Amino acid sequence: TYIVTDNCIKCKYMDCVEVCPVDCFYEGENMLVIHPDECIDCGVCEPECPAEAILPDTEPGQEAWLELNTKFADVW
Ligand code: SF4
Repeated sequence: TYIVTDNCIKCKYMDCVEVCPVDCFYEGENMLVIHPDECIDCGVCEPECPAEAILPDTEPGQEAWLELNTKFADVW
């Protein structure tokens, strides 16, 4: 799965949401998040993010962001 990280906080761009083929972006508290079970790992959103906030969850040290994405995606 891909995850949204801190560069997204207060970001006003929605380019990622527009390109996602499965609409798995959700509103978090002050940022967008990706639903980890709905993301099909296509990677289309990553280069679209002007803030470079989107990463694959295989990047080291991103566990806390994966948890936060999961938490906020499930709320809505
Ligand atoms: Fe959507 Fe693809 Fe990005 Fe996953 S990797 S959030 S499916 S655009």
